[in-house]
Amino acid sequence: MRTDIGQIVHLADYRPTDFVLERVDLTFELDPTETKVEARLIFHRRDGVDASAPLVLDGDELNMTGLLLDQDEIPAGLFDASADQLVIRDLPAAVPFEITITTIINPTANTKLMGLYRTGGIYCTQCEAEGFRRITYFPDRPDVLAPYTVNIIAEKAPNPLLLSNGNFLGGAGYGEGKHFAAWFDPHPKPSYLFALVAGDLGMVEDTFVTMSGREVALKIYVEHGKEPRVAYAMDALKRSMKWDEEKFGREYDLDIFMIVAVSDFNMGAMENKGLNVFNDKYVLADPETATDADYANIEAIIAHEYFHNWTGNRITCRDWFQLCLKEGLTVYRDHEFSADQRSRAVKRIAEVRHLKSEQFPEDAGPLAHPVRPTKFREINNFYTTTVYEKGSEVTRMIATLLGADLFKAGMDLYFDRHDGDASTVEDFVKCFEDASGRDLKQFSLWYDQAGTPLVTVSGHYDAAASTFTLQLEQMIPATPGQSTKEPMHIPLRMALILDNGSEASPSAVSGGELTGDVLHLTERKQTVTFSGISSRPVLSLNRGFSAPINLHFDQSSADLAHIARHDSDWFARWQALTDLALPNLMQAARDIQLGKAVACDPVLIATLLEIVADDSLEPAFRAQALALPGEADIARELGANNDPDAIHAGRKAIMAEIARAGQQTFVTLYDSMQTPGAFSPDAASAGKRALRNSALAYLSYAEETPARAATAFAAANNMTDLSQALALLAQRFPDAPESQAALSTFETRFSDNALVIDKWFSIQALIPGETALARVKTLMHSPHFISTNPNRVRSLVGAFAFSNTTGFNRADGAAYQFLAEQILDIDKRNPQLAARILTAMRSWRSLEPVRADHARAALLTIERGAGLSGDVSDIVERMLKG
Ligand code: ZN
Repeated sequence: MRTDIGQIVHLADYRPTDFVLERVDLTFELDPTETKVEARLIFHRRDGVDASAPLVLDGDELNMTGLLLDQDEIPAGLFDASADQLVIRDLPAAVPFEITITTIINPTANTKLMGLYRTGGIYCTQCEAEGFRRITYFPDRPDVLAPYTVNIIAEKAPNPLLLSNGNFLGGAGYGEGKHFAAWFDPHPKPSYLFALVAGDLGMVEDTFVTMSGREVALKIYVEHGKEPRVAYAMDALKRSMKWDEEKFGREYDLDIFMIVAVSDFNMGAMENKGLNVFNDKYVLADPETATDADYANIEAIIAHEYFHNWTGNRITCRDWFQLCLKEGLTVYRDHEFSADQRSRAVKRIAEVRHLKSEQFPEDAGPLAHPVRPTKFREINNFYTTTVYEKGSEVTRMIATLLGADLFKAGMDLYFDRHDGDASTVEDFVKCFEDASGRDLKQFSLWYDQAGTPLVTVSGHYDAAASTFTLQLEQMIPATPGQSTKEPMHIPLRMALILDNGSEASPSAVSGGELTGDVLHLTERKQTVTFSGISSRPVLSLNRGFSAPINLHFDQSSADLAHIARHDSDWFARWQALTDLALPNLMQAARDIQLGKAVACDPVLIATLLEIVADDSLEPAFRAQALALPGEADIARELGANNDPDAIHAGRKAIMAEIARAGQQTFVTLYDSMQTPGAFSPDAASAGKRALRNSALAYLSYAEETPARAATAFAAANNMTDLSQALALLAQRFPDAPESQAALSTFETRFSDNALVIDKWFSIQALIPGETALARVKTLMHSPHFISTNPNRVRSLVGAFAFSNTTGFNRADGAAYQFLAEQILDIDKRNPQLAARILTAMRSWRSLEPVRADHARAALLTIERGAGLSGDVSDIVERMLKG
């Protein structure tokens, strides 16, 4: 066991290692239960380091069988080895030396899926963040970079494939029934990017010719028989490589790029140098088994991991506090890629929806932390939506502040200046300051201050003076460990929209800087006056969601409807619709709580139906317009004391009103938005399917029968339509015979496809109401349920806890206790998975008091659990304290 559990690491304590690692030579003799690892590490003492300083290496559950200094055994008195640390004393002061460490590890027993483990009969590694120390003792931190040579020896029959990072050096037979392969990665890298895969897999091959004319071999490895489902991932990879050359000038740097898909994986995928390892959910796709959302995710994650080759691998992080340096930036890059491949506005809407439903609650709850945290107990718990998605938004704001050209110049400078470095956020920001001449000191607070800023706005038009005056005030809420905050630099894209839909161009602006359409809010309070405005304008503020903030602006329904109809920025149109809808949904929840009838603003209904029926608008955009804010969004807006049953019932009531008013529109859409011919996953076809399925959902409220969904289920020729019809049947009409029949048809048809069975679990986990808990418990006994497989656990337990707001938040607290038991059970095998699922309870404090008490009791049950991992205890303690 690790003994550092509970120790807090501080950013302020960073200092470089005492010893510089020059090179790494690893030899693996693979065996399912007794793999021998020999690590030869060449070090020298860093200039100026005391000659008596010992070498201290990290370990985790290690068992060492040999230790040599320059090939001689090190006497017992000169080292201390425990399972989690190796300390060697009396090492040479001035000359390089070689340490050889032999460890024996058991990949089969490795259920944490960190380090070397087994999945589907193959050997595979996961080393980010601190998994390499589960393989051998090592300076396991991202600022220690070295070239690696890797030798792999294994039984040949079960392991025809022996892979590692870099370029293949060669291979040969190795004694009876065995063979070996050698790999060399010339690019110095930190240990978290190490990877090894061995076993028997199928392969799909292609090539890519880089901008300088080099041919790169592309290989995607999957379980035998799954090769036909790799085509889309391969295509996405080639498009990513091309895009990174065109948009960022980044070329791939090895002769080979490999992706291995595995079925047991804690996260989405991992950017190991030249050898990405993927959760197979983000590789495998065909029309029969993958939804449009799956295709979009595959495209985005393939791109994300590929883009890491420059933002993460060539330039890595100095320490884990800098995680957003690679993750936020790389998410920004994959967002831009997807925007270029698809509809930019629709992509942006989807991003903001995700940010608001995932990151905003995190930022408003006990787990809130800055994009760059200053302390952590368990780094695994900081792979958060704040580091990733808010980190991406911070990068986007730099681009907004600087404009496309200067942003590009800053990125080029970053690649130039820091290639080969382990860098910091300061290094990154400095490049943009140097490229643009703009001072980004205040802006950098976005990295350091947690919490979603609240900007309160009021506007006043003075007809006599032809001026429009804006009063803005920013407030950054207190978050754990940060009670007071400084005002931030908030870039707000804006327009003043006139009656005819055109945009006013002010003759002068005072009280604030306006560059292009970006208004710079930098003070706590600011009054900005726009002159030369000939008639009362409607303000469209924070267009494109230029800043990740909450905006309080009391705009009339008429003004919001004006924006929704006329703004040239599609995102702003969607945002205005959301702003129109939210008060209705909030009021509906309050009305339900008070036993009152629910009513919907006719302006919302009219505006929505007009937009939805407008054939000049992209179907995907119209589908986004129809997708009202979700229950989590309503809960967030309500803030405190919320009742998930009332929120759910209120939202349904509003949908039903819209559905009845627009029944004819929805029938027309359902009939017209067909995608005839062979299935194509392109964005336009996906948009049509989304709009059609959205119409189907509304019709289920207008018609109140499962008939149409059952017909859709029977007629579906792709997984998008099939799973949506099934979800509608199961979640809207759980007791109807049609629903039961569809669930069992689906189960039988896809019983041998784990990824589709995951959907079957999730769809049932999300059936709302009191019966949900019993259903989830029953499903855990299904022969399809595998408690060691993260995807399966997430699809059932995770989906239930994160997304079944009524079922999970039942008033008697039984589901919280259920989750507590599950967390304690999962934690024994896989702490990372347990800790992540537990974050589903991060908003527990904003529940109404009865539920909040039950939630606290469940958290206390977890806290008292015997042998709790550092991962789970870190989360549970922050949730109880914060
Ligand atoms: Zn990443």
